[in-house]
Amino acid sequence: MKHHLGLIKEPSYETRVAFLPEEVKKLIDKYEVTISAEKEYGIQLGIPDADYTAVGASMSSKSDILQNANLILSINDAIEEQESIPPETSFIGIYNPLFFPERLQKYKNQHALVYSLDRLPRTTLAQAMDVRSSLDALSGYKAVLKATDYYSKVFPMITTATKTLKPARVLVLGAGVAGLQAIATAKRLGAIVHAFDVRKAAGEEVRSLGAKFIEIEGNKEETNAGGYAVEQADDYKKRQQDRINEQLLATDLVICTANIPGKKAPILVDEDGVKNMPSGAVIIDLAAEQGGNCSLTKNNEIVNYNSVKILGDSHLSRELPDAASQLLSGNFFNFIKHMIEKGADNDLITASQVINQENT
Ligand code: NAD
Repeated sequence: MKHHLGLIKEPSYETRVAFLPEEVKKLIDKYEVTISAEKEYGIQLGIPDADYTAVGASMSSKSDILQNANLILSINDAIEEQESIPPETSFIGIYNPLFFPERLQKYKNQHALVYSLDRLPRTTLAQAMDVRSSLDALSGYKAVLKATDYYSKVFPMITTATKTLKPARVLVLGAGVAGLQAIATAKRLGAIVHAFDVRKAAGEEVRSLGAKFIEIEGNKEETNAGGYAVEQADDYKKRQQDRINEQLLATDLVICTANIPGKKAPILVDEDGVKNMPSGAVIIDLAAEQGGNCSLTKNNEIVNYNSVKILGDSHLSRELPDAASQLLSGNFFNFIKHMIEKGADNDLITASQVINQENT
């Protein structure tokens, strides 16, 4: 089947670009694919239309693309409620459908097929298409750099003739992809780093990065959870809260990354914990979109509580748009390649399919 891939321009708040000229060229050179991109498609990264046409894409209007492409790619929502599309058009993007199921309704109404790449299984084969790993790694790294902007002391120990400045004490909550990258970045900057996760296996990874792992007995893990965390029992949550509050007394910076797929993020830092943090402390909450790990977090806002600053932002990779676009474009290329080579009924492709013909 010959594919016609449509690249839809992202909304104005989006800094990243889903598909770069490099991947357009690779796809056109290797497969029987035609590609149309919406005019000014790469403008947020300063990529001119000519860079896309030079590698074989054509530039077109959004309505033209929606009517003629059978495969449509965008990071965010590609269509508005009132836009009509031919049935069975396939959409590829990142929709977080477990937490925002309502986002899919308009696609269902139009009998579209939707593939959300954040639903790919965390397997070796899927790794090259795994947008979550790409974006979380960048967000974890950027979270620490962001913290340096708001923290008015230093990360490493600095000795001068007059005084020695103490190193920052960092606590990373959740040691998955984002958390491990945050730990590595904070360690490189010379901070003292502690980390906590409910998955015991995370302990080894934390220690291998030179950080201290906070272990709390009695955690619940499920082998069929795909490597993800599960909701914990109430008595465990109580012990977890007490231990974290004790740690917060001597913590200057908290990087929150703990999530449970499809659920509200676990609250790990409560108001009492924040109240007792050293003055000038900073909390960067990457779980903000799913409610946050800190009870005071407000999504996409900065909250000042006493002298503590709490930043809620789940899309910090948007502040590294060039790097994020490179990774995303590679992930999307690998997904489309897999789809073309193995067919749409391949296991990995169907695992990411969040609307199919049966549930439209
Ligand atoms: P995630 O974003 O869903 O959650 C981030 C971290 O928060 C996880 O480590 C989770 O255990 C932790 N967490 C959840 N509830 C918590 C709580 N109450 N307290 C403390 N921590 C809590 O997860 P993720 O970063 O996407 O990673 C999930 C798993 O997938 C990990 O095991 C990771 O190693 C694995 N993974 C595998 C691959 C692959 O093999 N291709 C790729 C990426 C990730």
